[in-house]
Amino acid sequence: MKFRRFTVLSLQTVVAFAALGGSAFSLVWLEQRQAAVALPKESLWDEVAPLVVVDAGHGGHDGGAVANGVTEKNLSLDIANRLKKELEATGLRVLMTRRGDSFLSLDERAALAGAHEADAFVSVHLNTDGEGSAAEGIETYFAETKSLSARQRPGMGEGADFAAVVQRLVCGSTQAENRGIKARDYAVVARAACPAVLVECGFITSARESVRLKQAGYRDQVASGIARGVVLFLQTRVATPAVIAAVAK
Ligand SMILES: [Zn+2]
Repeated sequence: MKFRRFTVLSLQTVVAFAALGGSAFSLVWLEQRQAAVALPKESLWDEVAPLVVVDAGHGGHDGGAVANGVTEKNLSLDIANRLKKELEATGLRVLMTRRGDSFLSLDERAALAGAHEADAFVSVHLNTDGEGSAAEGIETYFAETKSLSARQRPGMGEGADFAAVVQRLVCGSTQAENRGIKARDYAVVARAACPAVLVECGFITSARESVRLKQAGYRDQVASGIARGVVLFLQTRVATPAVIAAVAK
């Protein structure tokens, strides 16, 4: 896939991130430059933009977690729809695993990535802890071990980088507590044949965070933070040595 060049500042951000191999060190640098990674308005991609699969967790008879008047399947779909809008606004193509209140197995969700040759996969969930728990914040999961079928496509092994950049930007956008990235071989991320993350967008069991999550404006911040992470990740994957050399001059 080809990508257009965009603003020099954003390009420098991307190139520096890529040049440092997406390491923790480069993320510190990225954090310092967060103001510089506002998405440019012009299209970032060539005619065939990358495809992102957006997966709203649960659905149908599987409601997911329920707490503080919130049902996970409804909130995950709402955030997923906002994420779809944000991603499409940057010119990316988006495929939703579900558009309504329907049930899909984890395998069916993951299989969509392979069937449509997706470039990235994002699963949206809400977290829970014990009743009355004060635990809150956002955490992003990636698979350490991809399933055999998912490994057949090139470009694997980037889950940790993808999770790191999404986590950093969604926490920056929401000011939520940063609970970090975690390796866990959840079926949807392990079986998706592309870089995949699962974002736990906050604790519905937290009295404080559930109030925030009920606000549309806050859900917009969650969606836009994830979207920025996805865009930045997709851009870093294609920063070539030639581009790096040109910008480093
Ligand atoms: Zn869930």
